[in-house]
Amino acid sequence: MYITSKITKLQLNHPFKISRRETDAYREVISVEFDGGIGEAAPAKFYGETVQSVETAIKSLSSALDCDLDQIQDVMTEIEQNIEGNYATKSAIDMALHDRLGKKLGVPLYKLWGLNPKKTPHTSFTIGLDEPSVMAEKVLQAEEYPIFKVKLGTPNDIEILQTLRDVTDKPIYVDANTAWTPKEAVKKIQELANYGVELIEQPTNPDDISGLKFVHEHSELPIIADESVKRASDIPALAGSVDGINIKLVKCGGLLEALRMIHVARAHGLLVMLGCMIESSLGITAAAHLTPLVDYADLDGNLLISNDPYTGVTLDNGKLILSELPGIGVLTK
Ligand code: MG
Repeated sequence: MYITSKITKLQLNHPFKISRRETDAYREVISVEFDGGIGEAAPAKFYGETVQSVETAIKSLSSALDCDLDQIQDVMTEIEQNIEGNYATKSAIDMALHDRLGKKLGVPLYKLWGLNPKKTPHTSFTIGLDEPSVMAEKVLQAEEYPIFKVKLGTPNDIEILQTLRDVTDKPIYVDANTAWTPKEAVKKIQELANYGVELIEQPTNPDDISGLKFVHEHSELPIIADESVKRASDIPALAGSVDGINIKLVKCGGLLEALRMIHVARAHGLLVMLGCMIESSLGITAAAHLTPLVDYADLDGNLLISNDPYTGVTLDNGKLILSELPGIGVLTK
């Protein structure tokens, strides 16, 4: 099966910064297409992938698709057995397989899985790191969104929250992106709880599970693991050390694995967030179809860019409204 791929530079509305990285003005994504299905990946260097590595890996995958493409479980199992890592690549292929099957059967993805589209959550809207006054300005500009996810992990985290609370009383999720030590995290979370923060994402080092457990046991706010959890097989070791997990398609390798992660997380009594990278409406709309199954959606990557090539999932006061079109259900702008 011949796979075509295309790299697109997504321009950011605002330069974007998180605790471990410098400011970016744009991000690159790669889309794939074969046999009528389309998919996209927004690879992250943090997980060892780039659009170039995805492009190379896709070429090596062509022969894996010379089979019955309706049997997505078999196709993805075969790919998983033959290619290590490369989860952004696998995600793009998995997404295109689902899009293809949905189109063939004439149903949107959520119907393929028997989900109720009314059960989608509201998405949070991310405020990247900046001067506190600039972050407050971004909050004011984003008045149509009902929940904010605020990136922290700086010496002035509490000042940032104070400044934001001067301009909004909406729910706030905090994402420290691994920046704090366990003891520092417990202290900061105690203070942040006074500012109506609802949850804390990845406070500490992703590999230090006992550190996460320490934070979890000494904090009143739910602790959600992001960088610490990539695939379903990571979940059992984390259960008991956190309150929930953040699933992203490019970390786990696609919709099929994301669905498996949701069920494994539930079996361990964990909360589930579905997150994203900065990606176009193609990747965001695909992920959105799974959100009737999750507690929190952080699917705002397409809202942070100025040159989205697609339209797909929409928002009604922040609530995700799924596309009724077959497959992923995006249209080219
Ligand atoms: Mg995160």
